[in-house]
Amino acid sequence: MKRRGDPRASAVCGNICRVSVALAIDARGLGHQYATPSGELTVLDELTLAVAEGEHVAVMGRSGSGKSTLLALLGGLARPQRGWLTVQGHDLAELSGDDLAAFRREEIGFVFQHFGLLDTLTAAENIELAGTLAGTSPAARRTRAVELLDAVGLASRARHRPHQLSGGERQRVAIARALANRPRLVLADEPTGNLDEEAASVVADLLDDLPAVHGVTVVVVTHDRLLAERAQRRVHLDGGHAR
Ligand code: ADP
Ligand code: MG
Repeated sequence: MKRRGDPRASAVCGNICRVSVALAIDARGLGHQYATPSGELTVLDELTLAVAEGEHVAVMGRSGSGKSTLLALLGGLARPQRGWLTVQGHDLAELSGDDLAAFRREEIGFVFQHFGLLDTLTAAENIELAGTLAGTSPAARRTRAVELLDAVGLASRARHRPHQLSGGERQRVAIARALANRPRLVLADEPTGNLDEEAASVVADLLDDLPAVHGVTVVVVTHDRLLAERAQRRVHLDGGHAR
């Protein structure tokens, strides 16, 4: 995969101090439309968003405001139709299909509201599967799964299948799986949407610790006020723009 230069940007603190920060996400003039039976639906319109490496950002907005569409673009699940989008130094409009797949596998960890675990596999096997897809050796992916289950407090549940876990435990396995290939960016879409308050709080703690413990940038889409408050910064989607 080719990387566009060094994604540096200038950030201004106060009126005097000017520091250089590396950007995990640099979106400018991003636009996205869906073709619907009643015509083109503009979901994102001239959206600009910069997220620094190691930042923890919450994306909020009413239902239908384009939050999941934005995450899909950031994670290379959909192509930018308009504008400029660089994620971890990759110009996503320029990557070939194979490079975009490698980008998703190697650079991004996805966490979804409905967990997305395979019910025929154990917790450990679900995590190992991510390594298998990335070509990691069996021994290395087993070690990584053990290490990550321990990190999310589920070492004792390694051989449980998803239906033998609580919702909160399933989401913790999903977070461990998202980290399997040591991504630099974790994208979470309503990760506490199906959890009670106590389980949500555990998931919030884990997401909050990711930048410091695993050195990743976190972008979390959420309606959950408690989860959003844990982020360093909140971005609101409205009318296709980020504010
Ligand atoms: P959010 O995650 O903020 O609820 P989404 O990004 O899922 O919003 O969707 C934004 C808007 O785009 C919604 O009005 C939704 O109905 C519409 N939409 C999403 N996906 C598609 C699609 N594949 N085809 C047509 N319309 C879509
Ligand atoms: Mg959504």
